[in-house]
Amino acid sequence: MNKNAVCVVGSINMDITVSTSKMPKQGETVLGEKYRTYPGGKGANQAVAAARLGSDVTMIGAVGDDVFGKHLLTHLQQEGIQMQGVEVLGGVSTGIANIIMMNQDNRIIVAPGANQHVTPEMIEKKKHIIQNSDIVLLQQEIPMRTIQYVIELAYESGVKVVLNPAPFQPLSKSLLEKVTYITPNEIEAEAINITQQNVRIQRKTIITLGKSGVQFVNNNGEKKLVPAFLVPVKDTTGAGDTFNGAFVSQIAKGASLHHAISYANAAAALSVTKIGAQTGMPSEVEVEEFLN
Ligand code: ATP
Repeated sequence: MNKNAVCVVGSINMDITVSTSKMPKQGETVLGEKYRTYPGGKGANQAVAAARLGSDVTMIGAVGDDVFGKHLLTHLQQEGIQMQGVEVLGGVSTGIANIIMMNQDNRIIVAPGANQHVTPEMIEKKKHIIQNSDIVLLQQEIPMRTIQYVIELAYESGVKVVLNPAPFQPLSKSLLEKVTYITPNEIEAEAINITQQNVRIQRKTIITLGKSGVQFVNNNGEKKLVPAFLVPVKDTTGAGDTFNGAFVSQIAKGASLHHAISYANAAAALSVTKIGAQTGMPSEVEVEEFLN
């Protein structure tokens, strides 16, 4: 495996969207409009973002032995992601997000399926992938005991870890200490109670603030804001995933913290100018052009 290798341990989903002009009430059936499927899951999304930006990405996760699983495996391979760490589990469904869209009112049900089966026991068999990586990227759509196991394994192996604590679930202080960077959005930062955490944890926390940009603490311990780029916004879905994939791709290449944040801020800005989570994720060339 190359130096600068990124390992993403996380969820792989199929997003199933139906748009409707009327939300069904209890017991009611309505005729919807467009039905679409999009590859999703925070793990897969962030892996795609990093791969498009030139990182050597290996994914660890699981899909079911169904059509969605097959489709997602092929799709992620086509994105240039190495999939030897992804298991196809018999008798289990691929994770899905069922999204009902009515104007701005989205209602989402996630059925985690195979993602729930990404256990520490499964990771144990693949720990060489983590140990041979430069950096591991995690989100919280797989079991928390697995996240704990991966953080501890990476820490002991001297591999950097970036944790995107989304969706929020509590984490112990001792675990946060072992993470290299934590990347909550504003709401997750509040839930982690970052302002009450010790200085070491505050210094490794990078808070994404949507259209306000990104807040971090520099080497001198000063809070800094990197403002967001002013862009024509079409769809902010996947902005956070693009930010995380881009940030990790830069840290893996040895960029400074400030450069990695600025670059990820640019990549995420580009992503909101297009519809869809993965559809909007830019290539390396697109980010370079945008920044020049
Ligand atoms: P999501 O869940 O929608 O993917 P998130 O809540 O995880 O997003 P945000 O903090 O909303 O994450 O956005 C992540 C980053 O994306 C921001 O820090 C910023 O760099 C970029 N971004 C988001 N919204 C905008 C916007 N309207 N204009 C420019 N950049 C944006």
